[in-house]
Amino acid sequence: MHWVDRMKNRRENFLISGIVLIILGALFSLAVNIAMGGVLGLSGIICFFIGMSTPTELELSPEAVAAWEPSMERLPDAGRFMYRVDVTMDEPIKTTILCGPCGNLETVDGPRPEQYTCSSCDRNLWSLEEE
Ligand SMILES: [Zn+2]
Repeated sequence: MHWVDRMKNRRENFLISGIVLIILGALFSLAVNIAMGGVLGLSGIICFFIGMSTPTELELSPEAVAAWEPSMERLPDAGRFMYRVDVTMDEPIKTTILCGPCGNLETVDGPRPEQYTCSSCDRNLWSLEEE
């Protein structure tokens, strides 16, 4: 998920440039003049706060997606397997499937498929006829 990486990088960029500006500001106020250093230091602090306040909830790792909007379907009496399906709400639409029996986490493109067989343990987690 490239957009997630981009979001994370932007946050890090703000934090890094904030720190760099604060250090530069300190150096400038000592070596050049205090007004110049003050401006740099202040913009560094602003940068740092922007970086800090960038929402981290946007970083959706597969684990976060799995923990988000849980829809665990547990029907052990019917002899079916436990699984969890999460579909992203934003483009690109991806479906994350957590296989209960083996714990395999797989991401497929598009909305929830009509039937799914775990690629790791070959168990049929659901199919349309059973719904
Ligand atoms: Zn499996």
